[in-house]
Amino acid sequence: MTEQTKFLLDESKLPQAWYNINADMPVPPQPVLHPGTLEPVTPDFLAVLFPMSLILQEISAERYIEIPEPVREVYKLWRPTPFLRARRLEMALDTPAHIYYKYEGASPVGSHKPNTAVPQAFYNKEAGTKALTTETGAGQWGSALAMACAFFGIDLEVYMVKESYHQKPYRRIMIESYGATIYPSPSNNTMYGRALLADNADAPGSLGIAISEAVEAAATSGGAKKYSLGSVLNHVLLHQTVIGQEALLQFEMADEYPDVIIGCTGGGSNFAGFTFPFIHKNLTEGKQTQVIAVEPAASPSLTKGIYTFDYGDTAQMAPVVKMHTLGHTFIPPGIHAGGLRYHGMSPQVSALVDAGHIEARAVKQLDTFAAALTFLRSEGIIPAPESTHAIKVAIDEALAAKESGQKRVIAFNLSGHGHFDMGAYESYLHGRLEDYEYPAEAVAEALQHLPDVS
Ligand SMILES: *Cc1c(COP(=O)(O)O)cnc(C)c1O
Repeated sequence: MTEQTKFLLDESKLPQAWYNINADMPVPPQPVLHPGTLEPVTPDFLAVLFPMSLILQEISAERYIEIPEPVREVYKLWRPTPFLRARRLEMALDTPAHIYYKYEGASPVGSHKPNTAVPQAFYNKEAGTKALTTETGAGQWGSALAMACAFFGIDLEVYMVKESYHQKPYRRIMIESYGATIYPSPSNNTMYGRALLADNADAPGSLGIAISEAVEAAATSGGAKKYSLGSVLNHVLLHQTVIGQEALLQFEMADEYPDVIIGCTGGGSNFAGFTFPFIHKNLTEGKQTQVIAVEPAASPSLTKGIYTFDYGDTAQMAPVVKMHTLGHTFIPPGIHAGGLRYHGMSPQVSALVDAGHIEARAVKQLDTFAAALTFLRSEGIIPAPESTHAIKVAIDEALAAKESGQKRVIAFNLSGHGHFDMGAYESYLHGRLEDYEYPAEAVAEALQHLPDVS
């Protein structure tokens, strides 16, 4: 075995195609429903929001979809991303396990999100889109799409969850630096936002509300603006599969193959991007890698939500899909600092969890920050609060391997760095964070408002 720590791929090894798991799904796809009629949507409905090329990717069953050359050219600014063996963390844990991580924080904005922002901006440009609207929670997606829109000369309007808008000014300034316009959501810019503000001028907002505003702004623009989403949808997960495809090659360089792979889940995109190429091998080549999705106990769609049809947004304007959901009326607790606050989960990830191909775990935030400190004090990188969920379970697995004396090979996706999230670290270091488990009663209440799909 080589003593190598970093496994770096040459630019020529950048994937030529994205991997589409629809080709290998062990269960039939569920319909996407119109939020008004609850009947299957027509491409016309989606065409108000998205260019046809992305709609076709959304429903494609082709296993590999070629990455356009202009997108590969932009990817080369940071891809292939590094893959590391966490030797110092292994020593700190005194574990016989080998721990690897894929580092998506190497992108210019510090997360995996540009992997889809760039192709979405590219396909919109190709379709003649002049302006896009989107939402952002902590600001990571907004900054990724703002960068991509700057590259392709598209105007961008970002609805940022109001609480984050005030708590995370640096992400907001980053978005503005790339040239986008940003509004705190709920805003006075949309009918939905105005109605919410009339009700409560201090409404903190939520991702579901910000999605509603961005969708409304595009849908009522008379064709002038289209909408872009940073997670959940099939085409978004598709674009992220460059992560796992590179990791497979990097595992070859390391001459190992993972026993267990781990990712954090908000809407499911970095998790899917990392794991789907490995799940492909589980499904088609008889590999048996254990696959674990990790979510916060404060926003536990996979472990406490139910697998059913629900709206993608709070105002019931976005399509209805079958997914694990806490109910579209979900408002995440303010005390929760770790991101990953969406009420639902990507339909593809949900279906694979339901069919038993992915295991889900919920972890508490004090444990995730404790795991982050163990990691960063041995490996150096300060992880995004979202990524710490994956680290917590990777460390749990490494300690279980130590307990049982097994040399397991563990890998996780380090979806981003936390340089803009030092406020959350400050709260943790000064004892101001608390654990919070989303109460079963709140889930039960929210599920009263599900659409009646028969
Ligand atoms: C947005 C984000 C996530 C959560 O989104 P997914 O679509 O579930 O990947 C996780 N990590 C980082 C660093 C993010 O920016």
